Amino acid sequence: GSHCDDSFVSSVKIPTIKFTKLFINGEFVDSISGKTFETIDPRTGDVIARIAEGDKEDVDLAVKAARDAFDHGPWPRFPGSERARIMMKFADLIDQNVEELAALDTVDAGKLFSMGKAVDIPNVASTLRYYAGAADKIHGEVLKMSREFHAYTLREPIGVVGHIIPWNYPSTLLFLKISPALAAGCTMVVKPAEQTPLSALYYAHLAKLAGIPDGVLNVVTGFGPTAGAAISSHMDVDAISFTGSSEVGRKVMHAAAESNLKVVSLELGGKSPLIIFDDADIDVAAQLALVGILFNKGEICVASSRVYVQEGIYDEVVKKLVEKAKAWVVGDPFDPKVQQGPQVDKKQFEKILSYIEHGKREGATLLTGGKPLELGGKGYYIEPTIFTDFKEEMLIAKDEIFGPVMALAKFKTIDEAIERANKTKFGLAAGIVTKDLNVANTVSRSIRAGTIWINCYFAFDNDCPFGGYKMSGFGRDSGLEGLNKYLHVKSVVTPLYNTPW
Ligand code: ADP
Repeated sequence: GSHCDDSFVSSVKIPTIKFTKLFINGEFVDSISGKTFETIDPRTGDVIARIAEGDKEDVDLAVKAARDAFDHGPWPRFPGSERARIMMKFADLIDQNVEELAALDTVDAGKLFSMGKAVDIPNVASTLRYYAGAADKIHGEVLKMSREFHAYTLREPIGVVGHIIPWNYPSTLLFLKISPALAAGCTMVVKPAEQTPLSALYYAHLAKLAGIPDGVLNVVTGFGPTAGAAISSHMDVDAISFTGSSEVGRKVMHAAAESNLKVVSLELGGKSPLIIFDDADIDVAAQLALVGILFNKGEICVASSRVYVQEGIYDEVVKKLVEKAKAWVVGDPFDPKVQQGPQVDKKQFEKILSYIEHGKREGATLLTGGKPLELGGKGYYIEPTIFTDFKEEMLIAKDEIFGPVMALAKFKTIDEAIERANKTKFGLAAGIVTKDLNVANTVSRSIRAGTIWINCYFAFDNDCPFGGYKMSGFGRDSGLEGLNKYLHVKSVVTPLYNTPW
């Protein structure tokens, strides 16, 4: 049967789009060029709104506002408790507008509305509160010097930060970056992805209502090679925090190196392995593997895109996986029964389909899916797709597809599983399903990746640092590690006694 729910006719109202301009120095303004770009509803391909297209000159204005706010404004000079108070208010305002914010991300990115409302948007408020709680606990250490000196460290805000955000988690990833930067006392320029500018502008409005001073949080909507590149090569931006593809991450680092050597942190792609051992509960394992790749339509950097199943239960897991994939409901992301919405845009949709064609040509076996799904002839929907018998050398196993496409393989021994799991240029996350503590411990310590999930997947928390090994990038978001990257450490040294040193 078809798992495309085409009986549902979207009746949820698209929210009125209130904010379409750049947010600079506390005001919504047109771009200097007056240009705009379209943001598209991936359910239909229709235009939702036209958004101000920022370019280099607009970035210059935004950086100038952020620079002034940092060098002369109150934000970095407030006691941490005052920043915390305002951040808490910002979080409350988000809670009061959960439905509208969730709807903006659904219409802009094709994300599930029910998930946004229940999880994603409430979580960004909780991320703000987590870092608000840290804002008045930022301090250095007294050092034990080997000579007769008194020395201590100060932790100071790193300065003007550029945040470049991708389209798959427009709210979550925005707040993983701006919350710790705000707590640290930084000022910032945000560039949301051109596919998903709507919620960031709404958040800017709420930030102002909460009392975040003008110039602290600026949002420049626009394209990567223009607005994004202007931020990463700007001489007056002190640090850049980027989440996106490895190709663009490399460009950002280049631009940073060639301009002012600004501090860079990169959270990039992944090709995360999930290893299922013979002792696993078959139903639980199959469910984890399936959700691991289909959640957010596979548009998630930690997706379990390579699944390794031990030979003893392989056939049973495959059977379960196919059954579950066929029952998975693809359709309008506003429909509460739907589990998978459309891919974010036409470009991603076509890219995923071309990877599927590659997979077939490379000799992997297509178990299920592999085709686009059409809801009334419109929208960027793709069937849950599972390939098996893949080799790590194949393109479908090497590249991050960022879609609902799983590559599945059988393994015999723990050593083989570890070796194959590590055969990737990426190192973002990995999953292990086993009841054997020794196996779990051995594999956790052998996989070169920033997050290991044992008998779970996508278990994120504000307190849990998140980031990559290898070409998945460097630097950590989330947790106190995610705060430290917005802080400089300054050492202050003075002689203990009044003796000349
Ligand atoms: P994806 O390939 O998933 O669309 P990208 O890495 O292209 O992800 O995009 C992530 C973010 O990086 C977006 O906000 C995009 O506009 C921005 N971006 C794209 N190209 C550049 C660039 N050359 N310099 C800076 N930012 C860029």
